[in-house]
Amino acid sequence: MPQLCDHLLTADWLLTQDENRTVIQDAAIAISNGLIQSLGPRADIVAAYSPSRPENFLRLGLVMPGLINSHTHISMTLLRGLADDLPLMEWLTKHIFPVEQKLTPEMVEMGALLGCLEMISTGTTAFQDMYLMETAVARAVDATCMKAVLGEVIFGFPSPAYTTLDAGRNLVREMARSWRGHPRVRVAVKPHAIYTTDPDILGQCLRLAREEDLMIEIHLAETASETAQCLERFKARPAPYLNSLGLLGPRTLAAHVVDLDDNDIDILVNTKTRLAHMPESNMKLASGIARIPELLAKGAVIGLGADGAASNNNLNMFGEMASCARVHKVRAMDPTVMDSQTGLDLATLGGAQCLGWPELGSLIPGRPADLIALDLNSPNLQPMYNPVSHAVYAATGHEVCLTMIDGEILYRDGRFLKTDYEGLLKEIGEIRQWIQKHVL
Ligand SMILES: [Zn+2]
Repeated sequence: MPQLCDHLLTADWLLTQDENRTVIQDAAIAISNGLIQSLGPRADIVAAYSPSRPENFLRLGLVMPGLINSHTHISMTLLRGLADDLPLMEWLTKHIFPVEQKLTPEMVEMGALLGCLEMISTGTTAFQDMYLMETAVARAVDATCMKAVLGEVIFGFPSPAYTTLDAGRNLVREMARSWRGHPRVRVAVKPHAIYTTDPDILGQCLRLAREEDLMIEIHLAETASETAQCLERFKARPAPYLNSLGLLGPRTLAAHVVDLDDNDIDILVNTKTRLAHMPESNMKLASGIARIPELLAKGAVIGLGADGAASNNNLNMFGEMASCARVHKVRAMDPTVMDSQTGLDLATLGGAQCLGWPELGSLIPGRPADLIALDLNSPNLQPMYNPVSHAVYAATGHEVCLTMIDGEILYRDGRFLKTDYEGLLKEIGEIRQWIQKHVL
């Protein structure tokens, strides 16, 4: 007599991303109570398990872990395409910060909902976010059933969410306490960057993170001009400067890490600091190409991120995997420096480490059923020799036909099952009109 499960999925191909990177052709997965109950060859699993309802037996193409976006500013979806083709500092200070000063919590929530749906529809199930009025982002994450590590961005100047540093810190503390224990929303301390804070602010952020046992996320060494500024103000390069303040370590996620010298690399690796790599944002802002193959060779823990939708201009992690797997080849003029399996590892297992959520990023019995399926009937995914190659080099993200988090189907064949997308589109249109009329 087969054992009952909530969902029984068959897969033409299954990428488990387990320790051995096991790939199974003709596989099946039994899912119960939000967890993977069992997986293996189709014949074995289908004989052993039966779904509680016939419609919960699903036949799928390529099934793999949901991707993880290790660094984003989700509500910047509202600013997508508003200003492009500019250097980072000019883009940020003249175009992005002025609009962000006018955003309301309601707008941030709508932007976050849009970002969540964009990620769900392109196969991302978890992310790390830093933005303004982050409580509004938390509401959107909760409503869409995604997983995220969230934090109010801390600047050394007033933000639309707080007027003083004390108020900003209290906001993070309150948010951490009110979301503690939530199964899908976690909170972190997020000082924006070296160039928007000072040693006192960073020290206070570190104390807060220790007191509340939270992760820290900060932009680090994004551009050569950040390094020049840091050298002028603090007589040190960004990585040694942060290290001297005690901010580097396994509790910290450093985003970008583009402008690194050999000593910076050693500091980041030796302190076991988590690193988020954003190839598309770095290319678009011409920030440079992070030395990812060298960092990986030294054992660094690295995830992939999309950054905000205003500097990318999308939140599609399939695009990041493809860009990552390509850009390092051309930087090194060597096609062997970054293979497709490494690209996939960064977007799954590396991302799980960057979120401090190691049970994500792989499909293993007992772990959360956070998975996606690609429609292998898509012309660009035929014929099939190597599913890892297809996931990284051939897929665009728009072949995603199913997204499941904690065993719940959130997206199926182009439809969002938990969210009123039509209603959201209307709200987004109204926000665009308001921004055009009152800010631009
Ligand atoms: Zn960023």
